[in-house]
This record gives sequence, C-alpha cells and structure tokens, in this order.
Amino acid sequence: MADIAKMYELQKIDGTWERVRRRLGQIKTAMVESEELQAARQQVAATEADLQSWHAQQKNAELESQSLAERIATTEQRLMGGQVRNPKELEALQASLDGLQRLRATVESQGVEALLKVEELTAQLSQEQATLKMLEGKWTSGQSTLIEEETKLKRAYMQLKKQRESTAATLGETLMKRYETLRQRKGGVAIAPLQNTTCGACHVQVPTGVASAARSQENDNIVCPSCGRILYVG
Ligand SMILES: [Zn+2]
Repeated sequence: MADIAKMYELQKIDGTWERVRRRLGQIKTAMVESEELQAARQQVAATEADLQSWHAQQKNAELESQSLAERIATTEQRLMGGQVRNPKELEALQASLDGLQRLRATVESQGVEALLKVEELTAQLSQEQATLKMLEGKWTSGQSTLIEEETKLKRAYMQLKKQRESTAATLGETLMKRYETLRQRKGGVAIAPLQNTTCGACHVQVPTGVASAARSQENDNIVCPSCGRILYVG
C-alpha cells in the first residue's frame, strides 16, 4: 500500500476514533439522573418527613389525652370521694376538673387533626412513590441501553487504538509527524480525497497538472493548492 493510502486509512481510523470518543462523553453525561427524577425523589423524602412529624404529633396528643384522663379520674375521685368537705376546696377541685376536661377536649381535637393529616399525607406519599418508581423504571431502562452502548464503544475504542498503532508503525516516524502536524493545522483532516478535479475537503477545483500528478500516485507530496491538504486518489 502506498504511503498516502496508509495515511488516508489512518485518517479514517482517527475519524471513527474521534466519533467514538465523543459519543462516550455524551453517554457519561446522559447517565446522570434527570432533573425530573431527582425532583420526584426529593418530593418523596419531603412528604416522608412531613408524615413522620404529623405522626409524632398525633402520638403525642394520644399520650397527653391519656395522662389527662388519668388526672381527671383522680380529681373526680377526690371530688366525689367524700374526704374533701371544705366548700372552697371543693370549688377549687371542680374548677381544676373543668380546666382538665377543657384541655383534654383541645388535645383530642388536635389529635384528630393530626390523624387526618397523617391519612392525607399517607395517600399523597403512596402516589408520589408510584411516580418515583415509574420514573426510576424509565431511567433504569434508558440507562441499560446506554450501558450496553458504552460497553460496545469501549471495545471499539480499544480496537481502533490498536489499528491506529499498527497503521502508524507501517508509516514510519517522518510521515506520521507530517500527518499529525497537518491534521492539527487542518481541523483534523490532513488528507483530502480528490473527487474528479475537486479537492474533497475544501471543494475547490485543482489545476489539471496537480490532479494528474496526484493520480499518478508516485508522489505522496501532492497538496491541494487551495487548502494545503495532501491529495489522495482512492
Ligand atoms: Zn483543498
């Protein structure tokens, strides 16, 4: 194979290699959780915290109501037991009993409110969890396709690397240097295929003499007068 053909082969390998590298980068970005999924996860956590707080309030109300019931029973016992006879003391006991009963009514009403809130949040949470599960499922299935693609691309990446190394070895150091330098200067394209009499890279018509010199394939050094890339006839 002529050196120019080898260089053109190398350029094809480099082009594919670059595409593989770019796609691998895109996959890495795409594998980050979507904002929608992150938001759904945060919402579930917020509702869970809310629910826990209301549940604790409901439990507290229940315990407080129980302890008030005990104090009410004790006060009633003292009031009705007959040991206390002093009218002022009896009056005070009655007032204390009334107060305790009012307090218990308030606490119980707070307990009912908390319980209603717990029920409401429980329903809300189960809905939010269903949404989260759906989004997670969607994301995971999307991701498994990406993981599959990534595995294939990584394999291709390594194969291209080997191909590049062996092609570079047959070209030798001087030509490789020329190829790399030109490639760097010419936006990644060092070799331009000649299409009839037109440069395949810059699409400018080349002089007939240049075109036929490139066709003779004896000289690897025929460049497009317009863009400076090496002309290749396949
Ligand atoms: Zn050109």
